Amino acid sequence: MLCAFRRLKRRPAPTRRTKMDVKGEFARLERENPGKSIAAYLEPPGSGTALPANAVLNYYVSTNDSVPAAAHLLDSVVDKRVVYTNLATDHWLTTYMSSQLVHMGNPGECKDLRKWQRDSADWVIARTALAPVTALRIAGRFLGDAPGPIGGGGLGAMAKKVAARSALADAGGGRDKALERALRYYTLAAYAVISRARYKSTMLGNYVGAILVSDSGRILAWGFNSSGFHHAEVNLMLAYFTAKPGEPKLPANSVVFSSLTPCQQCAKLLETARGESNSIFYGQFDSGDFGKAGAATSAKIDAVTKPVSVGPKASRTFVAGKLDTEVAKKNIAAKIGESEVAKSLIDSTFDEIGRRSSKDRKLDDEVQTMKAAVLKHIKETVDAIAI
Ligand SMILES: [Zn+2]
Repeated sequence: MLCAFRRLKRRPAPTRRTKMDVKGEFARLERENPGKSIAAYLEPPGSGTALPANAVLNYYVSTNDSVPAAAHLLDSVVDKRVVYTNLATDHWLTTYMSSQLVHMGNPGECKDLRKWQRDSADWVIARTALAPVTALRIAGRFLGDAPGPIGGGGLGAMAKKVAARSALADAGGGRDKALERALRYYTLAAYAVISRARYKSTMLGNYVGAILVSDSGRILAWGFNSSGFHHAEVNLMLAYFTAKPGEPKLPANSVVFSSLTPCQQCAKLLETARGESNSIFYGQFDSGDFGKAGAATSAKIDAVTKPVSVGPKASRTFVAGKLDTEVAKKNIAAKIGESEVAKSLIDSTFDEIGRRSSKDRKLDDEVQTMKAAVLKHIKETVDAIAI
């Protein structure tokens, strides 16, 4: 009886609600997840000058530092919604997505956003909730770490040596010659990834392909452009690093091959991921302002070793050279897909791998043996691409 009496006497709880704003909630998430990649968006998004009543701040915290939370949300939220993030303003993902990303360390950074989107101090949100995140839309695959076709390895060291050349040089003999030749075969494979994507996927955007190859010549992962920020190199890196959470760098002595010069975004990403022992090669040079960015940190393969070519000896076609004449300068990545000649040339890189791998070879020396093993591996791997 005494308890009931006391309850009756108690004053009603004040109706004042705790103010929850985006900045405050984001700061709380950062305190709870120190050093983690965090991203959030509002549901519903709000328009005009006010936030709708009962808006929820949906957030996501990446468990893998190499795959930013904002990338997950940009893929999961179907409309062009603003994503709040703690990524650095010069992060690779910002390159093409800046109009959608608000950097919480410096919200004023996003010039395209209206004031109410930049400064959320007066907004009151109803609650914060974990975002419903779907899997990243990665046009790429990690294929596992099994040993590759080059017994004893050495592809990484040869790649370093070749990439450091200031001009074309004669290949060495024996094993060195075989390793150098393998670099050209892997470049063919990067082009052939695009050809497979044409027929085995509905995800192909621009005609760019990329592969990551281990020191022993295994194609560890492949990726192709699937539009948006999902360039070939991005899909390649996302495929690799989602399979390797916690690993911030590419494997030692591994080599990246891209069919086109890595652009500003991809060059930034590759620079973050590469270690001292990694090399990057590209096939065709992209003369576009954003496109040529990676030329400073990667090597045009045809400039440092024999040109990557297709067709029988008597009528060889230099792949990048032919693409240059067929596809006008600037925005090359977008234009290959519009040219029938360029597309059939891309297909011929896949055919070339088949032609070379089915050739009868006298496996009487190291060069021939390595050549056969590398081509067989490339053929089988590229053949299996379907996504
Ligand atoms: Zn790119």
